[in-house]
Amino acid sequence: MIDDLCRSRKRSDCAQRLVTAGLRVTRTRLDVCQTIFQAGDRHFTTDCIYCEMQSTGLRISLASVYNTLTLLANHRIIQRLPQFCSQAYFDTNLSIHVHVYDEETGQLSDADAPLADKVLRIVPDTLGERPRYDIMIFQRSARS
Ligand SMILES: [Zn+2]
Repeated sequence: MIDDLCRSRKRSDCAQRLVTAGLRVTRTRLDVCQTIFQAGDRHFTTDCIYCEMQSTGLRISLASVYNTLTLLANHRIIQRLPQFCSQAYFDTNLSIHVHVYDEETGQLSDADAPLADKVLRIVPDTLGERPRYDIMIFQRSARS
């Protein structure tokens, strides 16, 4: 009962996000939106969302997931991260923050606040003020 209420509320929140962004609310957009926002801020690929939706019984094509994620990114509901590997990564966190990619595990995460604060202070001082910097730190193993 509480789970149903939570799911219903999250679906309503997602519908509001779509409307606020100027998008028409469709079942596909709602399903994708609900899947990506069900666990707070996070990073994901198209394949990741496709697999999650398949595992919960939602039938959707990989192309529809990709097209919907691209649409959501184009309307600033999520952000598409700069391409740094074979798959496009998306992020629910729209704020300016620093990413850390562990090449050994393939794990993408947000840098902790002390590191992010230092980097976000140093980069504009060094490279000049710009409207936005996307900063990615690649962690490599000793072998690479
Ligand atoms: Zn992030």
